[in-house]
Amino acid sequence: MELKIYNSLSGEKEIFRPIHENNVGMYVCGPTVYSNVHLGNVRTFMSFDFIYRSLTHLGYKVRYVRNITDAGHLTDDGDVDNDRFVKQSRLEKLEPMEIVQKYTVDFHKVLENFNLLPPTIEPTATGHILEQIELTQKLLDKGFAYESNGSVYFDVLEYNSRGLNYGELSRRNIEELFANTRDLDGQNEKKNPQDFALWKAASPAHIMRWNSPWGEGFPGWHLECTAMSTKYLGEKFDIHGGGMDLKFPHHECEVAQGKACNGTEPVNYWLHANMLTMNGQRMSKSTGNYILPMELVSGNNDFFEKAFHPAIVRFNFLQAHYRSVLDISNEAMVASEKGFQRLMEAMKILNQVSAADNQQGSTLNMKEWKEKCYNALTDDFNSPILISHLFEAVNFIFKLKDEKEKLSPEDLEELKKLMNVFVYEVLGLQNIEENNNEKLDQTLRVLIELRNQARKSKNFELSDQIRDRLLAEGIELKDGRDGTSYSLI
Ligand code: AMP
Ligand code: ZN
Repeated sequence: MELKIYNSLSGEKEIFRPIHENNVGMYVCGPTVYSNVHLGNVRTFMSFDFIYRSLTHLGYKVRYVRNITDAGHLTDDGDVDNDRFVKQSRLEKLEPMEIVQKYTVDFHKVLENFNLLPPTIEPTATGHILEQIELTQKLLDKGFAYESNGSVYFDVLEYNSRGLNYGELSRRNIEELFANTRDLDGQNEKKNPQDFALWKAASPAHIMRWNSPWGEGFPGWHLECTAMSTKYLGEKFDIHGGGMDLKFPHHECEVAQGKACNGTEPVNYWLHANMLTMNGQRMSKSTGNYILPMELVSGNNDFFEKAFHPAIVRFNFLQAHYRSVLDISNEAMVASEKGFQRLMEAMKILNQVSAADNQQGSTLNMKEWKEKCYNALTDDFNSPILISHLFEAVNFIFKLKDEKEKLSPEDLEELKKLMNVFVYEVLGLQNIEENNNEKLDQTLRVLIELRNQARKSKNFELSDQIRDRLLAEGIELKDGRDGTSYSLI
């Protein structure tokens, strides 16, 4: 079966042909670990988790590299004081590396909660400073870069003068780019505003700094991905992914760096995941239009009427194709929860129903159904279409239970196997143990009642103790007009 992938570089769906048969090298830009990831970030990483799971299921051995950006990520190329890590470390009164550690741990915890598989290699920018210095030197030696006041910049005009095309990935025209950029303050050490930093000289106040042939400084953000992808996947590899917003300038710069260094297109297939929006606006830390993953899962927020289990959030996200915008809303989450519960109920029934001796009259043609599922999966990883086919089977399974349908022993085995593979392995959904949740709910209601009794009899020591002990276990009690509610934090 042929796998078709939409390639941002060509703007077309193409048949996927890996460089080395049965092997795939995939690089995905990781998080900048200076604060908690928001739900939008989670969507992008989940999109690539689904792609990774799909490729693996289709029989490829995938080397999946996802980096951690822990150095040199400026909010603006021109201003050295805009290093996100330095800013955050001042704010939280922590070492920059404490910031890195704190938010890397948070990132891993969040992704594990949403059942994302870890990449096979997770390199950090600070662990690859040498490689970045070497790349910078190579670009200088080849005449694609120039030094200016201890910083080194990539020379975009020089690149284009050699018949190369800065703007090929994002389909931007360099003349227009030049016309639309003002020369911002502090950028005058660049020859042109479009030139981007490979290496930045550190100001005396800059804490994260390394020695280099150009003095003390730190690497530019775009360079780290080229350095790490080249090191672990080679000068040319199969798939590079990231959020749509990274296409320009980040990925455009990666293409330019790779081509300038090695004379070849560094990536065969560029994949871009679309954005998560809330209230119709892109989710983003800087605008304040965001929700943290754990706020959604705990119910501790003003946007959703209740808490949602991470598996339901995952189901909701995968109900949209990775290249479509997804607007998160309470209604959609409630609908996803219903759908998810029906799916899980069907999975349970599937283990209980027995096969019929003859299959005459069955409306599920296993061969055709299986083909439809694989067609969806191999058509640019179309998760919503795959899910719609799974629901065709779900409806059938409910009829099996009511004995309105029947299936032969072989087909029933096949249906069980495929449903398990698609639901748990490929989509990565997890079965929520309803019983455990119910028991927890009942237990907490008893504790809340006992606390209320303690308060009534003015035993505040005991009532506070119940509240604090629960909080220490990650359960927050909230007293409202309608009584006490709880949320898992
Ligand atoms: P950052 O840590 O800012 O580099 O972002 C990590 C990843 O999240 C990148 O691939 C971004 O493209 C992606 N991202 C940022 N905002 C959103 C959003 N609202 N929806 C989906 N992905 C996003
Ligand atoms: Zn990157």
